[in-house]
Amino acid sequence: MLFGKLTQKEAVVKRVVVASNKLQSTVRFEIDPETFANAFTQADEEGLDFIGLFHSHPAPARPSLIDLKYMKLWGDALWLILSSIDSSLAAYQMRDGKVREVTIRAE
Ligand SMILES: [Zn+2]
Repeated sequence: MLFGKLTQKEAVVKRVVVASNKLQSTVRFEIDPETFANAFTQADEEGLDFIGLFHSHPAPARPSLIDLKYMKLWGDALWLILSSIDSSLAAYQMRDGKVREVTIRAE
């Protein structure tokens, strides 16, 4: 889970919360609800916004069909995907039902 400052133009990640995969699967994931709730409470106390989710794929760094399904439910959340095949990293956001790639910048 990624938290930080979110504006219309930019998302700055300030804190990363690592959650284990409840499904213990390499192709699907589900975050433990308690880890999830705690992370949101802490972020709230720190004045940080929820930015999005980070996960890896044993496939190219593009949203899977399951990701697309969840992206619809997550509003403006950014989805950062790492490919474990070639270590490429990409970020996506769904807006008005359309997925667009988001530029990643390291500081
Ligand atoms: Zn995925």
